[in-house]
Amino acid sequence: MAFINEVLQPPSYGWKNNQGELVRPATSEILKEFFTRLNIFRDRKNWLPFFSWFKIICLVPFLVLFIFKFFSLYMLLAAFIYGMIIMGTHGTVWHHRYCTHRAYRFKNPFWRFITQQLTLNIIPEEIYVISHHVHHACSDQPGDPYNAGAGFWYCFLADVNHQPIAKNLCEANYNRVKQLMAHTGVKGNTYKQYQFWGSYAHPMRAIGIWLLNWAFWFTAFYLMGGIALAVSLFAAAGIWAVGVRTFNYDGHGHGKDKRREGIDYNEKDKSINQLWPGLVAGEWHNNHHLYPKSARSGFKRYQLDLAWQYIRFLYRLGVVISYRDDKSSFLTKYINVGPVLAPVHETT
Ligand SMILES: [Zn+2]
Ligand SMILES: [Zn+2]
Repeated sequence: MAFINEVLQPPSYGWKNNQGELVRPATSEILKEFFTRLNIFRDRKNWLPFFSWFKIICLVPFLVLFIFKFFSLYMLLAAFIYGMIIMGTHGTVWHHRYCTHRAYRFKNPFWRFITQQLTLNIIPEEIYVISHHVHHACSDQPGDPYNAGAGFWYCFLADVNHQPIAKNLCEANYNRVKQLMAHTGVKGNTYKQYQFWGSYAHPMRAIGIWLLNWAFWFTAFYLMGGIALAVSLFAAAGIWAVGVRTFNYDGHGHGKDKRREGIDYNEKDKSINQLWPGLVAGEWHNNHHLYPKSARSGFKRYQLDLAWQYIRFLYRLGVVISYRDDKSSFLTKYINVGPVLAPVHETT
């Protein structure tokens, strides 16, 4: 079996039935799978998805304090900007375009580290990156870890049920996982450590980085605007971390073909360009499936792409030394039909 088909831990209900059709589990089956795979007492190798949801639980008290103690229109605005635009755009810049698609390169590990730590540490890179390669390899097909055709809960709880790497990879396949992660700077387990922990990341390092990241940002927010701002932005990060899980279901049309002529040009899957994720995070998802390696996804005039603006800004600073931009290829191929142009590679 190809690496891409066996790198993720299959759910107990399987990806497809004997006829090769997508398995659409009942919500109760999905929830049962979710709690089973979060149980670290049953299997220590469940630690990474558990850790990811544990961080969200840790953000709940901030949300309660925000609503009942620190709520004001000013704080609501700050929370909106942080939770929607900054966290959203950072997810696109870091997890999506850099860690997964390598759409641009940093000058050195220092600037990579700064970009990685620019927002609250919540989503583990390995859960996002490896499964996202699988998503592109079999979008809307059985095996797609957040296949919108299997329903909302299938996608919403995918980071536990479908996205973690398999626990029984052979050494050669684990080495391929390491290759897919090496450029992110996240230090990986040896094969022996992987066999013990079931993950690429080591829990001690992951917990250490998480605590330092949150301590830094709480202090920074406190110094910027006092305890009210710190609590409000932590609450906003929690709302983002839950809300972002709805994206994959929405971004593939709820499993229905919602592509529109003149807006969605990629015909290979059901991905769609949506105004809101596009405007706040640069996720023009149909464009992205058309040109997954491009550091820019907003191709049309109205398609604001803040993630691209940030990458360009780093390029002008000399911190990003090269990127790929497929805008001109998109325009010649789909808008002003003509000979297809090669992507623009800017390198300093
Ligand atoms: Zn997609
Ligand atoms: Zn992608």
